[in-house]
Amino acid sequence: MIEEKIFLKTDLKKTPEEYEYLGLKNSLKLMPEEIVKKITESGLRGRGGAGFPTGRKWQYALAQENDVKFLICNADEGEPGTFKDRFLLENMPFKVLEGIIIAAYAVKANYGYIYIRGEYSKAIEIFEKTIKDAYHSGLLGKDILGSGFDFELKLVKGAGAYVCGDETSLINSIEGKRGFSRIKPPYPVQEGLFGKPTVVNNVETLATVAEIMKYEDNVYARLGTEKSRGTKLISINGDVKVPDVYEIEFGSCTIREIVELAGGPIEELNFVVPGGIATSILKDNEINVRYTYEDLEAAGSSIGSGGMIVVSKNHDLIEILLNVSEFFVKETCGTCFPCREGNRNIKEILLKLKRNGYNDEYKKIIGELKESIMLAARCGFGQSSVNFIYSVLDKFFKEEVI
Ligand code: NAD
Repeated sequence: MIEEKIFLKTDLKKTPEEYEYLGLKNSLKLMPEEIVKKITESGLRGRGGAGFPTGRKWQYALAQENDVKFLICNADEGEPGTFKDRFLLENMPFKVLEGIIIAAYAVKANYGYIYIRGEYSKAIEIFEKTIKDAYHSGLLGKDILGSGFDFELKLVKGAGAYVCGDETSLINSIEGKRGFSRIKPPYPVQEGLFGKPTVVNNVETLATVAEIMKYEDNVYARLGTEKSRGTKLISINGDVKVPDVYEIEFGSCTIREIVELAGGPIEELNFVVPGGIATSILKDNEINVRYTYEDLEAAGSSIGSGGMIVVSKNHDLIEILLNVSEFFVKETCGTCFPCREGNRNIKEILLKLKRNGYNDEYKKIIGELKESIMLAARCGFGQSSVNFIYSVLDKFFKEEVI
């Protein structure tokens, strides 16, 4: 039986008054370049889902010569089955705040936003108080802890659009525009909020930064595997006995063991969605795969957002497919044709499948649509919208030959 590896969850029991902000205090004694180097060497990869190296993103941002830069904490956690950022915001807001300030100092950003999903009312309330208290105690505002560094942080509430979790839609939303995605490049680190260099980092990424900076040496770099360093929070849910947020060390266990850690499946297991519905499923006989970026990629899926959904045999697969398809049709921002029309077409085909029964032609057309959407959609929403649906079709549906 595997055990949780507590790294990010350290200090979980502390009250805001007891928290010492050691990571921030250490960071403010360093030059921004030294922090970026340490984060680069830690091997930390973005925990929003894409896994882009955090240190590299910061290097790009630091290299931008601009008087105004922004740091945004993306807390618009909308991926179905994902609630690890909510866990951090509600239970360790001080560590998230600390990571935000360290990141801003490291890339020389004096202004920041935390964009929290509107439905997360408790997290919003907690973080509003966290910001207010931080201004009182000198952690935000002018000359933070006597370091000479100034940083202003504002909280923005999302209004229920899944696509605003995409960093470019989120930037438009903060600017007061509709949450439409933008074409990348330019990447936000080049041209982001109000046209200025902007770093957008996920909640878990920033909390991890705070913990990494707490230690003199790079403890984090020694955890996990070469390509998947450190630990990961997994919000496991669905047909599992003890749904919750667990922390595991990369490479220390398989997906099957993670399901066991959460008490095991409540009924006979059918498949697991490793990282939210933007990722491809793994069938029961495929989950002996080690939990790392590289192993999941080799298995045809990915870590994604860390929202692991366990699905038993007790569900109608066509209903699940239609449910997911309707979600993407409803949530697309609609500005790019491949995503809007592609997903609408997929739903139509799934409805036909429900009416007429399965035939291989449906899978073939959905496969072609998947390719087109992946290549032509302009943001991560469209590019990953068909992974789940196609993988279920591919792995479970076969034409009956009479
Ligand atoms: P992406 O690969 O386009 O970018 C990842 C990050 O790296 C971005 O911040 C981007 O600006 C930066 N980046 C990439 N290349 C760069 C370069 N050359 N120069 C500078 N910066 C660069 O991925 P994405 O579209 O931001 O995210 C897609 C992922 O989001 C999916 O894999 C999915 O798992 C995840 N997702 C998460 C949630 C959630 O609630 N957490 C919801 C939906 C999707």
